[in-house]
Amino acid sequence: MAMYKHAQYVTKSEDAAFDKDNHPGTATPFSGIYRCMGCGKEDVSTHSHPLPPQNHHQHTVAQGPIRWRLIVYADHQPKSNGFVDLRQPRARALGVFDSGSSLTNHSHGRADHRYNVW
Ligand SMILES: [Zn+2]
Repeated sequence: MAMYKHAQYVTKSEDAAFDKDNHPGTATPFSGIYRCMGCGKEDVSTHSHPLPPQNHHQHTVAQGPIRWRLIVYADHQPKSNGFVDLRQPRARALGVFDSGSSLTNHSHGRADHRYNVW
């Protein structure tokens, strides 16, 4: 279970990126903390780097294959006043403050099909 202490540094999001299971070894769609939906193991992965591979850890048959789900998104944008700057494209893309946009908006197109939901 991912943990935090200071609630002012994390915020709730309803972005669809948090609902998507990603295959091991595929390009990480967003930097952050990923949870294996088979066993609950967590790991960190960086945008565009490969997600941990299929042999990252062992599963029972009942746990099924490893599939990685983003559970905490790491916002790389600096905040001059310590808070999210709504003018920053990444803040808008996160979909937290503007329901009309989405984390996934900037990856629409062919590349998006690499991250099919299982
Ligand atoms: Zn697992």
